[in-house]
Amino acid sequence: MGSFGGDLSRRDFLKLCGTSAAILGLGSSAVPKIAAALEKAMVRRPSVVWLNFASDTGCTEALIKANYPNTAQLLLDMISLDYNETIMAAAGTQSEEAREAALKRGDYILIIEGAIPTKKGYGMIARREMLDIGREYAAKARAVIAVGSCATWGGVPAGDPNPAGLKGVYDALGVEAINLDLCPVNEGILVATIVDFLLTNRIPERDSFGRPKIFYGQTIHDQCERRAHFEAGRFVERFGGKEEELGYCLYKVGCKGPMTYANCPKFRYNDRVSWCIGAGGPCIGCAEPYWVDKFAGFYERLPGVKIPGIEGVEAGADKVGMVAGAATAVGIVAHAVGTKVSGRLKEKPPPKAGEKTPEERG
Ligand code: SF4
Ligand code: SF4
Repeated sequence: MGSFGGDLSRRDFLKLCGTSAAILGLGSSAVPKIAAALEKAMVRRPSVVWLNFASDTGCTEALIKANYPNTAQLLLDMISLDYNETIMAAAGTQSEEAREAALKRGDYILIIEGAIPTKKGYGMIARREMLDIGREYAAKARAVIAVGSCATWGGVPAGDPNPAGLKGVYDALGVEAINLDLCPVNEGILVATIVDFLLTNRIPERDSFGRPKIFYGQTIHDQCERRAHFEAGRFVERFGGKEEELGYCLYKVGCKGPMTYANCPKFRYNDRVSWCIGAGGPCIGCAEPYWVDKFAGFYERLPGVKIPGIEGVEAGADKVGMVAGAATAVGIVAHAVGTKVSGRLKEKPPPKAGEKTPEERG
């Protein structure tokens, strides 16, 4: 039985330290140090308030269903999760009281899951507007983590026509968050972010969209196991064809990997077993801000990507240009966004919905 207040073994704990070290780009020699520092941090068990707004709770699901090790339990051993309406035992008035007590104490890490309705009456908890609750709790937080693409930039719920005016944390609250894009968030990234924060007491270096560069510094395309097929001009032309069987590149059937910054090929989903492209589906770009409108239709070819061996740039719809502008044409070459900024949103806030990116402004 575990020595950390839960049902987990020392072996699981060390496994988490090892996984976190790998995700954070540290060698195995860092594992004992991480373990010692975490044990120290776990004594304090920092308070965490997890607010759910407009979403399908997929990020909570992703976290609690992870095994090898049981990530959720380990996380619960490290922190004091004072409020999470999905998994807490308390309900009704009791749960509201637990949340208010955490607010009174202050100095908690605030995790927000789900988009925030900015129009009145579209999203309420205990007769209060989600927008007001978000503002109130963000004001007293020591750090805000937006988990999943709904919380970062609105995600699926904010897709056109968006009658509720749903927005992500920055657009709705004007608050700087550590943005963990992806739909759902990869639980390993969330745990590593919390581990990193507990170890360093610092917000990680982020790109201009608030994403930790360590997880979002490279395109899917640059890390993709099918990249050799792309370079050789071997593409799946349609689903069900021979090329699909052969595992060729999915660019022509809609893959948005050339314009999507995330580490899915390395980190994978479902206990690290597989990921979208590994399972045969094109990347639909869920790690990118405003991806639902920016990348619809999901099986349409991404415009502006230079195909090896073919002169010029692919022609295509202008949807992607709406957000990515000129950067699209060189999307598979460089992550200009990530290299230009310091990662501190205080110094350089990300663009709001409809606002031009630094690349578009030139
Ligand atoms: S286009 Fe998609 S499938 Fe092809 S190499 Fe790039 S990321 Fe992989
Ligand atoms: S591979 Fe693409 S669609 Fe799949 S989770 Fe990663 S960013 Fe999202």
